[in-house]
Amino acid sequence: MNKIRTRFAPSPTGYLHVGGLRTALYAYLFAKKNSGDFLLKIEDTDRKRFVEGAVEKLINSLDFLGLERNEGVMLSKVLSNNANSQESKNYPGVFEVGEYGPYIQSEKLEIYKKYADGLVKNGYAYYCFCEPERLEEMRKEQTAKKQPPIYDRFCLQNVSEEEINKNLKNNCPYTIRIKVPQDETIEVDDVIRGRVKFNTNLVTDQILLKSDGFPTYHLASVIDDHDMQTTHVIRGEEWLPSMPIHILLYRYFGWEAPKFAHLPLLLNPDKSKLSKRQGDVAVEDYIKKGYLKEAIINFVAMLGWNPGKGETQEIFTLDELVEKFDLAHVHKAGAVFDIKKLDWINSQWIKKLSIEELYEKSLEFFKEKEFYKNTSAEKKSDEYIKKVLSIEQDRLQNLSEVGESNQFFFHDANFDKELLRWKDMSDDDLKKSLEKSLNVLENITDENWTRENLEKILMESAGENRGELLWPLRATLTGEKKSPSPFECAWVLGKEETSSRLKNTIGKI
Ligand code: GLU
Repeated sequence: MNKIRTRFAPSPTGYLHVGGLRTALYAYLFAKKNSGDFLLKIEDTDRKRFVEGAVEKLINSLDFLGLERNEGVMLSKVLSNNANSQESKNYPGVFEVGEYGPYIQSEKLEIYKKYADGLVKNGYAYYCFCEPERLEEMRKEQTAKKQPPIYDRFCLQNVSEEEINKNLKNNCPYTIRIKVPQDETIEVDDVIRGRVKFNTNLVTDQILLKSDGFPTYHLASVIDDHDMQTTHVIRGEEWLPSMPIHILLYRYFGWEAPKFAHLPLLLNPDKSKLSKRQGDVAVEDYIKKGYLKEAIINFVAMLGWNPGKGETQEIFTLDELVEKFDLAHVHKAGAVFDIKKLDWINSQWIKKLSIEELYEKSLEFFKEKEFYKNTSAEKKSDEYIKKVLSIEQDRLQNLSEVGESNQFFFHDANFDKELLRWKDMSDDDLKKSLEKSLNVLENITDENWTRENLEKILMESAGENRGELLWPLRATLTGEKKSPSPFECAWVLGKEETSSRLKNTIGKI
């Protein structure tokens, strides 16, 4: 059997769409699972949609997420230090690695043109000189009559050989259209959807080569997949209607078609198609918001796939996904993008981090916060921040939340006498309670100032009526209705700051 080869074929529109990431991930997982190769090629023939810097951004995102390619487009000079590596003509600093390139469509224009001309020569395609106005008019009429938007074949039926030659000589703009056979049913076995049938009478003679000399997606995609020896085309369901055109192209060129797997749509929770309007679709935005790459990969993998009946595991590393992944377990129905699920998966991954890792990943988020910018150097020390993080770790859903709900660690706590009171305690009792805490805490040495000791000693001192001692203490240290426990807060704040907050409050009652 041939080695499995899959590819990700994004258009450089400026960001990596979560749907695009899912396609890339499934193609990666399927290739790796089967000891195959995963490739990246760039579909940049739609010049209207082109965005400067988008190719580099896409590659960076894939690299960051750990979806390494065996072949195709890369940024890394290390990987491209390969005999078959070349710097791209159109994108300096971008390398194409492998023997089946170019892997960037804008570098293959002559190749596509040659194939398109060949199709015309063999009678599988034809020149179309229709002006955009005529086509527009035709489309309007069809819409009015509720007919499918099918090209009426004016140029196939009415333009003689002589006229064609004259037009070409006069440099009349033209497109090349595929000739779709009539009255045929084209059948394809999709790996996910099973057998799919298309009636060719409902398929238009699609344009293969545009008047600007650029190929359309259909022509370029088929030629690339043949050139790159793709064995499995894995892509979004929106490309399913293109199947008959692609199958015909493989037939006309005399090439064996690869296998196809069309992935289910991504949906908003209200079941509409996932769109930018309803939330973020750029993977880069999730990274910026503090979702870990492991969580993003884990979450995206589960959009339309699960490891099978009876499996309850929900947290997977990339390697575990490679091991478990199977295209047969990809669902046909649309997959709902549920941000709550992403938050939960992210919280699970945050829990797995060591404090050092959590600190390293969180620091950039702290640096953006006003409360952090305005605090003392002492409260910005590695040690202090790590303590805060160790308290927060189990409660964080994403890294951009760090410190947010515990800002009292960074500035003085609010004073609210009513909040300090346990039940209907008098001022006198409140003062006594705080003095007791102060006394107990001042007797703990610096070495013994640990979470465990603080908890043990304060609990013992509180005896039966815990709330009477612990509530005023906690409210003093934090100034908040809700917060981590008084032991945790005192531990982070340290002996000096804890005493000072207590003394301060006592003085005010
Ligand atoms: N450029 C297409 C996309 O971004 C690729 C479709 C395919 O994989 O064939 O969806």
